[in-house]
Amino acid sequence: MLVIGAGCAGMRAAIEAHDLGADVALLSKIHPVRSHSGAAEGGINAALGNASDDDPEQHAFDTVKGSDYLGDQDAIQVLCDEAPDDVYQLERWGAVFSRTEDGRIAQRPFGAAGAPRTAYAADITGHVLVHVLYEQVMKRDLPVYEEFFAWQLVLNDGRCQGVIAWDLLNGGLKAIGAKTVILATGGAGRLYVGTTNAYACTGDGMAMALRVGVALEDMEMMQFHPTTLAPTGVLITEGCRGEGAYLLNSENDRFLKRYAPNAMELASRDVISRAEQTEIDEGRGVDGNVLLDLRHLGAERILERLHGTRELSMTFAGVDPIYDPIPVRPGAHYHMGGVDTDVWGLTSMEGMYAAGECACVSVHGANRLGGNALMETITFGKRAGAHAAEWALSNTTVEVPPALERDAERELKELLDRTEGERPWSIRNELAETMHVNFGVFRREDQMKRQGEIVEDLRERYERVVVEDKGEIFNNDLTQALELGFLLDLADSMVISGLARKESRGAHARPYDYPERDDDEYLKHTIVALDEDGRPRLDWRPVTMTKWEPKERTY
Ligand SMILES: Cc1cc2nc3c(=O)[nH]c(=O)nc-3n(C[C@H](O)[C@H](O)[C@H](O)COP(=O)(O)OP(=O)(O)OC[C@H]3O[C@@H](n4cnc5c(N)ncnc54)[C@H](O)[C@@H]3O)c2cc1C
Repeated sequence: MLVIGAGCAGMRAAIEAHDLGADVALLSKIHPVRSHSGAAEGGINAALGNASDDDPEQHAFDTVKGSDYLGDQDAIQVLCDEAPDDVYQLERWGAVFSRTEDGRIAQRPFGAAGAPRTAYAADITGHVLVHVLYEQVMKRDLPVYEEFFAWQLVLNDGRCQGVIAWDLLNGGLKAIGAKTVILATGGAGRLYVGTTNAYACTGDGMAMALRVGVALEDMEMMQFHPTTLAPTGVLITEGCRGEGAYLLNSENDRFLKRYAPNAMELASRDVISRAEQTEIDEGRGVDGNVLLDLRHLGAERILERLHGTRELSMTFAGVDPIYDPIPVRPGAHYHMGGVDTDVWGLTSMEGMYAAGECACVSVHGANRLGGNALMETITFGKRAGAHAAEWALSNTTVEVPPALERDAERELKELLDRTEGERPWSIRNELAETMHVNFGVFRREDQMKRQGEIVEDLRERYERVVVEDKGEIFNNDLTQALELGFLLDLADSMVISGLARKESRGAHARPYDYPERDDDEYLKHTIVALDEDGRPRLDWRPVTMTKWEPKERTY
């Protein structure tokens, strides 16, 4: 088995597969502990009931409502039922969660959650989890292809049988065969200029799956996080608001009382991002931002529970939150959409699985609740690992046809032989800047259409992209070019899905032409696959409903 991606989802999948007896390797374009899971700050959701009464049912309802009823309720139930045991498993492996006075795992309030449900390790939860999982990977002595860039999935005999990857350290393409492949390649925040995501978050797995005929689901659903630091986009955790921080406009007004009078700063992310953007657009912002005020929490609490936030604010904005409010604004943060899978991570293609942010199971629907993404990586990483192991252990053959390797070599040579053209970064920047303007917090029909044309134009320019570095070792120029190809494919899928969804639901807000949610027409997922000409084709699939009928969503 091969797991592509070694963040929380990939490592959890590999551990499970190994423990069930499979021979499994991980492959990652960066060192596993540098995976973007390590940037997660606020925590991980499980109904442990340590801070107040809570149960998986309540967790499931909050998640369904948070998803604006687009989440599949069977998948959400699986997540919420399995979450508590999965968190205890992490604890037993050594995750140092923050504690209550009597020694149990502490849980903090997070947006749109009916109870304090977010287990945390101060504000470095992701950092703790990737290190714990990496220890478990090392303990099992699992092979890791570190600094290998997966480029093309191997499709043979109707099933996925491995990957063709570029060896970043030594150069050259390597084909790696596997009976089952799990994609765990994370998100695609780099589609936007203002994002909390690292440079490596370029949606590679989603695009690779799309190219071999696997569908992507709900791609229009890109979440904008309400508190990203100006001007860098670095995340300021929702944990700040969980601890009691206020959001203020230029008039020193807690403006959320006009948008979410009950939940205030703990409303869901889509609601708060829209409120902030409205305040900024209507002239009540502060230099294009609003202010996150922690001062009333006091130095002791800030230093104990939010020390990472303080450090980030001081380093990247020159603001010490003990004394001054932090300038924040909405930024692209999390892709609810991704590779279409069932509740075992299985895609429509035999042998191919996906888990974590690159997948769409779908538990987040149109809007993810804070703390649910880390939980998804663990629960569905585990499940994908188990199912893929079972399949690999009961099927024997694996073959990477030499013709596929030769085609990949030829394609790469053509790219590297090109001596004139445009550098990848200029196209990449233009893509990210225009996505931000035309496919951001609020969406307009004309802007989305315009973005479709821009992407088309960028694609044409991409045909002539030139890689100036012809070297074999750590050729970032080359990997940037390949990543750009992935990003362009995804932008296409997003625009076509966004145009088709003629309603406002969760992250997809169209206040100017379709301001309401329309359950009669659009209580369904967008599904994008490529047609014979390689162009994205849109389809729909109903949402799986079990017990929760859609209701008006207020906070
Ligand atoms: C700043 C920040 C804070 C967050 N805080 C929280 C939080 O507090 N709670 C919460 O629930 N969620 C949080 N999230 C979301 C959550 O952290 C992520 O959704 C989740 O960690 C993604 O994990 P993953 O394993 O799917 O992907 P990642 O951790 O991003 O790992 C992706 C892996 O894929 C590899 N990869 C990618 N492309 C290739 C390729 N072509 N070839 C080889 N390898 C490849 C990478 O090297 C990496 O190992 C946060 C997100 C951000 C950006």
